[in-house]
Amino acid sequence: MLTIEFLKNIIEITFGFALFINALLFVPQAVRIFREKSAIGVSLLTFLGFLLIQFIIVLHGIIHQDFPLMIGYLLSMLSCGLVVMLILFYRSNDKKMAENHISLEEIVAQLPEHIYWKDKNCICLGSNTNNWKDFGLGSLAEFKGKTDYDLFTKEEADHIRLVDEEVMRTGQMKTVEEKITLNGKTTLYLSHKLPLKNKYQDIIGILGVSVNVTKAKQETENRLAMLENVIAVMPGNVYWMNKEGVYLGCNDNQARAIGFSSRDQIIGKRNSEISGFLIPEVLDPINEEIMNFGKTIITEEPAILNGVSATYLSHKVPLLNGKGEIIGMVGVSVDITDRKKAENDLKRAKETAVTANKAKTEFLYNMRHDLRTPFSGILGVAELLENSEEDPQKKKTLGYITQASQVLLDQLNQIFEFIHSENGQLPILEKQFNLHQLISNTFKMMKPAAKNKSLKFTSELDEKIPQLFIGDDVRTQRILINLISNSIKFTENGYVKLLTKLVKRDDKNILIEFIVEDSGIGIPEEKRNLIFEQFNRLTSSYSGIYPGKGLGLRMVKKFLDEINGEVQVESNHSGGSIFKVFIPFKQSLLNNLEASAC
Ligand code: ADP
Repeated sequence: MLTIEFLKNIIEITFGFALFINALLFVPQAVRIFREKSAIGVSLLTFLGFLLIQFIIVLHGIIHQDFPLMIGYLLSMLSCGLVVMLILFYRSNDKKMAENHISLEEIVAQLPEHIYWKDKNCICLGSNTNNWKDFGLGSLAEFKGKTDYDLFTKEEADHIRLVDEEVMRTGQMKTVEEKITLNGKTTLYLSHKLPLKNKYQDIIGILGVSVNVTKAKQETENRLAMLENVIAVMPGNVYWMNKEGVYLGCNDNQARAIGFSSRDQIIGKRNSEISGFLIPEVLDPINEEIMNFGKTIITEEPAILNGVSATYLSHKVPLLNGKGEIIGMVGVSVDITDRKKAENDLKRAKETAVTANKAKTEFLYNMRHDLRTPFSGILGVAELLENSEEDPQKKKTLGYITQASQVLLDQLNQIFEFIHSENGQLPILEKQFNLHQLISNTFKMMKPAAKNKSLKFTSELDEKIPQLFIGDDVRTQRILINLISNSIKFTENGYVKLLTKLVKRDDKNILIEFIVEDSGIGIPEEKRNLIFEQFNRLTSSYSGIYPGKGLGLRMVKKFLDEINGEVQVESNHSGGSIFKVFIPFKQSLLNNLEASAC
């Protein structure tokens, strides 16, 4: 009796425990739904069924007052109810997800281009929709089981089979171009073939992805053909070669110059093989320099065109690959034979002209004695006659002859002096001279001319200026004479003045400014640069008002350049001219001695 009671208790405890486990069994399901936030794959109906059964059992427990049964199933109802609530809660979410859910198979089926797989015997196992449709088949089922020989021409299938077998044999992916006939149209595919492996990594067939590149290839070919045409008709001679000096191509002009009937004939040849036109001994070292050192070279190169030597101006650059490595050379050469000849002719003509000009100048310079002597004679005799003549009328006439002869002689002297200086025959002096004396002599020399025109002629000298200088006294005086005689010539009324100023001095050097100012006709600002040019005159000599040759200022400028001096031209308030001349001299040591003696 005791034993039966004991067994009954054991069964009841086990039953209670089983009910508890039963209740717990729903918990993992609830956790999964909660974690995935999705009830996909979980049937609401099943759990509602469980809930109903549990409810009936709970009612049964209440009626029969079997409380352990009732409590156990109440617990189960709670956990099952939780699952039902979660299913209901995530249902709308699941609806949305279900709309977007798509299997990998469906994705593959929809992929563009051709994706296919075959078994070890190259029998088709499957493909994406695009693939079987492009073969004109009605379904995937029709595609399955076919071989390449069912789908392509024998030649095409042979080629495909060869590649497929190689990939399966080597286990290596291969990318090939495959030309196939689809619906009567030749199409070019770029195919990636890779071994198809099972989960044990055994090769069980072949997987292929083929992309239609017909259009892209055609476009590339068109572009290349266009580029070829552009190069073919390019002006000048265009050519390119690899690093071994082997030509890879050229344009029409280069082919024609060599004597080839087509551009392709140059391909594979070296300079030494086309030496009728090119001179390899000259070209090869240049080309090697470009390719070995990555240099760009622009040079004149000799060639033989139609048996006659020619000159080309070549621009050569290294030819680079996509990685920027030198793989050869590109050159553009232009035939400059005619230009070169014209250049040489011009050079020769210039040399001849310079020589002729020099000879003419030398001739004139040599003539100076032959011209001056009779002129001096005429002048002397005229002066003698003038002085000895007592008849006033005849004396006046002889006076005209004397004056005219003097003017002519002065002009001749000026021309000879100009020639002398232009020939560079006047040495640059660096000797000691007295500047005070030089100015005083110049003033005395020019005074009669100023007096003749009733001009006020004055000279002022800065008292800080020392007596002795070292420099070119001859050029300094010629400069002053030229400027003062111009001022006198171009002034009808008023004054001409010479100012000599000290600009700056140090122990060794001294800078002097000479200012020649007049109240004459002046020089317009825009013409001031012209007056220093040879034979340039602002008033024409033939008008007779201001005779001259346009040589004086040119000589002034040349002399100043030779002794590092400068000249500036300005206008004064009365419209006359101001010539400012700056000449650097060296200080004489004697000045310092005098100064210290004082
Ligand atoms: P030339 O005096 O023999 O004509 P220059 O070379 O000495 O030649 O001068 C060139 C020109 O500059 C002159 O013809 C004249 O037009 C102008 N010129 C030079 N000095 C003066 C000046 N002091 N006043 C006005 N014009 C001048």
